[in-house]
Formats: sequence, C-alpha cells, structure tokens
Amino acid sequence: MTTIEHADTDGVDAPSDAIRTAARLDEHHAPETNGWMAVCRRCGMQTDGPQGQHLPSERQLVRANAWLDGQAMNLRIARLTSGRNS
Ligand SMILES: [Zn+2]
Repeated sequence: MTTIEHADTDGVDAPSDAIRTAARLDEHHAPETNGWMAVCRRCGMQTDGPQGQHLPSERQLVRANAWLDGQAMNLRIARLTSGRNS
C-alpha cells in the first residue's frame, strides 16, 4: 500500500516565495520599466513602482521562476557552446 502525496498548493499562502522570486529577479537584472507602467520590460513581471524593484504577483510567480530557470539554462547552453567552439 502506497500513499501518494499530491503537491497541493491550494490555500497555501506563501508570500516568502514571492519575496524570494522577486529577489532573484532583482539579482538577475534591474527592473526596466518605461516610466509609467510598473512592469519590467525585460521579464514582464510587475514591479512595485516605476523606479522600484520586482514584485511579481502570485499569478506571475510560476512564470517568473520559469523565466529565471530559462535564463539560467540559456546561460549554461551559451557557455557550453562557446566553450565547444573555441
Ligand atoms: Zn525584470
């Protein structure tokens, strides 16, 4: 008899995840907004103001993490290919 644990995120309020993701985004790049919309042009995430820091909404968290993972992957691939070519 096996018990399968489902990753149930329903009802789980984890603002720390948002903070961590926001910190990762800030670390990756400074938010680029066009001055009147609090949205970063680079990653498409919300910011806490035109001059502010990343503040992805709960809905954007999954996308933000996927974006960050994609950036890390791209970087790794770029390093691998450039290392192979030189
Ligand atoms: Zn950004």
